[in-house]
Amino acid sequence: MRILVSLVFILITTSSFAVTFDGKFIQGSFILGKTEPGSEVFIDKKKVKVTSDGFFVFGLGRDRKYDVVITLNKDGNKQKIVKKILKRKYNIQRIDGLEEKKVTPPEEVYERIKRENKLIAKARATDSDLTFFKNKFIVPIENSIITGVYGSQRILNGKPKWPHYGLDFAADEGTKIKAMVDGTVTLVEPDLFYTGGTLIFDHGHGISTLYMHMEKVLVKKGQKVKQGDIIGTVGSTGRATGAHLDVRLNWFGIRLDPATVLDLKN
Ligand SMILES: [Zn+2]
Repeated sequence: MRILVSLVFILITTSSFAVTFDGKFIQGSFILGKTEPGSEVFIDKKKVKVTSDGFFVFGLGRDRKYDVVITLNKDGNKQKIVKKILKRKYNIQRIDGLEEKKVTPPEEVYERIKRENKLIAKARATDSDLTFFKNKFIVPIENSIITGVYGSQRILNGKPKWPHYGLDFAADEGTKIKAMVDGTVTLVEPDLFYTGGTLIFDHGHGISTLYMHMEKVLVKKGQKVKQGDIIGTVGSTGRATGAHLDVRLNWFGIRLDPATVLDLKN
């Protein structure tokens, strides 16, 4: 038995093959991997798609604490990589003494919120063969100041609210918004309760982006959009305190930090 165990061990440890990662192993990060074409790749237990040229993608959640296990398999040669995840510190803001109706949405909108969350979840679950996630992303609005960051959270009257998963770009109402990367439109909604005018794009392999609080939406569901195309304009629709663009990045149901794919100057 012991001989067999050590034999298996040797087989596993001697058969490693090339894999590289573009992205940091920190909470909220988008990570692009590259390995030999034709490999099978598992992230934890989840099998992910691999492009014909060997690319795969995954992301790490805001609060992920445990290691990520990447398993590669090429023609029976297995390689297991375990990576530690660096923790981040998020900005937590406590505000007390607020009027209760400003803290919790009124009961009559619960059903609506549920219905809308389902629409968004469905779009984020898309697992297409598109490979646009490999491309470099660009900022949706140039020379705009970031006014809200990923991961921050407010505790209102002692109640922890949903963390902020987006990146907020301050801009005037009507400012044109560019697509950050090529993709296909999977959701167009002119007025969702929280997010107002909302767009979701699929970029392949579970990577999606969201654009929220838009004034005008200039694309249709199913439309293929090129990076830099004008997809709509900045607004303050939904629950927004003022005109701004909030963009989000997901790997399936996991919300990632858009700043990890953007080249931000400020
Ligand atoms: Zn926001």
